[in-house]
Amino acid sequence: QRQKESEVVQEFKLEQDNELRFEVESKEKVTLELKSGLAEVFGTEVVKGKVYSFGGGSKIAVFTWQGCLLELRGKTEAAYVARETPMIIYLNTHAGLEQIRKKADTDESKRGPIAMIVGPTDVGKSTVCKLLLNYAVRMGRRPIYVDLDVGQGQLSIPGTVGAMAIERPADVEEGFSQVCPLIYHYGYKEPGSNVMLYNLLVTKLAQTVAERMEANRQNAVSGVIINTCGWVKGQGYQMLIHAAKAFEVDLIIVLDQERLYNELVRDLPETVKVVFQPKSGGVVERSRQARIEARDQRIREYFYGSAGQFYPHSFEVRFSDVKIFKIGAPALPDSLMPLGMKAEDQLTKLVTVQPNQQLLHHLISISMAESGEDDIIQTNVTGFICVNNVDLERQMLTVLSPQPRPLPRTRLLLSDIQYMDSH
Ligand code: ATP
Repeated sequence: QRQKESEVVQEFKLEQDNELRFEVESKEKVTLELKSGLAEVFGTEVVKGKVYSFGGGSKIAVFTWQGCLLELRGKTEAAYVARETPMIIYLNTHAGLEQIRKKADTDESKRGPIAMIVGPTDVGKSTVCKLLLNYAVRMGRRPIYVDLDVGQGQLSIPGTVGAMAIERPADVEEGFSQVCPLIYHYGYKEPGSNVMLYNLLVTKLAQTVAERMEANRQNAVSGVIINTCGWVKGQGYQMLIHAAKAFEVDLIIVLDQERLYNELVRDLPETVKVVFQPKSGGVVERSRQARIEARDQRIREYFYGSAGQFYPHSFEVRFSDVKIFKIGAPALPDSLMPLGMKAEDQLTKLVTVQPNQQLLHHLISISMAESGEDDIIQTNVTGFICVNNVDLERQMLTVLSPQPRPLPRTRLLLSDIQYMDSH
């Protein structure tokens, strides 16, 4: 390590199969440069001589299969070289998926693998998904990424589930570019807040992904990688089983938890291959607070861009120009329900919301639905706005929107999730 004026410069020489792990102190910035050799960040190749920049809170691993020399500048919270990583196991998984794709290449009646990554929180599920997708796309594949983790919402914002065809490796600094993701509104950050709705949306998403595979042979051959929530007990477990069945998965990778592995082997048909894999020692446990911050950051990025490069719009919307709904009515006891309806049906019922102060700071999804109220729940959404003010006297909402007025559609779905716009 050398000290250069006020900037800390650290150099690391990595042997083959080593990994440099570092965290960036909050509110700091750290740059990474590959000086020689070959390296990758979560499956994306690092370009030699290019300076990559990571903001506060980033947790990064730079892996090398061949050996390399790396330089870090800036304040890292921790920076060390790890010799033990599960990367070879993950690479073998990729090779296994590629075998299935190769069979589909030459046989029209076959499709590529549908793989689901499961495990408790903080085991690196999202990272393994990214790795497998990057390796696939680097080989010219076009896999579909499905994100069922409503807590983080990698493909759009928290409180949604979605899918996206991956066309190029993730950007080292910014992740996958979000070109036309297919997103459904769920409206909560916990999958357990409305299990009925969650399962309904998973089924719908699975249907849509299957249709896409029918229509696009390259996607069909490349297969699907599914990221899931870290809630793996009780009802959370049942929801995983539901997702596995809805997507007709061929392979489930269980990270870190043997109990979950055993349960899945017991409960799923033999045609579903379930494998147990270790988590990487580099995955850092995130506190509740860190999760909340990550969620907020995701939303801020949606409106302002990862480096503040977007300029969202703020404008007024007349109450009368939009129709706002929420999904789920207060539960009534069965005895009070209309004949033939169950209390459960209430959970997937569309309820009209009269604009009032309660909307303040809530996120709202803009549904693609144009008319009719019946299928709004199962229609995808085209974007999100945030309510920054409610003027009851003038019957106006002030909203933060990535696009200028007018809103592209008028059917809106209220999310339980709030965002404080501090700009
Ligand atoms: P969640 O429970 O929120 O779904 P997860 O299981 O999907 O979490 P990840 O989001 O993949 O976990 O990883 C958690 C954090 O650890 C991320 O910030 C990621 O960048 C970091 N991370 C993953 N692998 C490594 C590694 N090998 N070295 C250092 N950091 C890592």
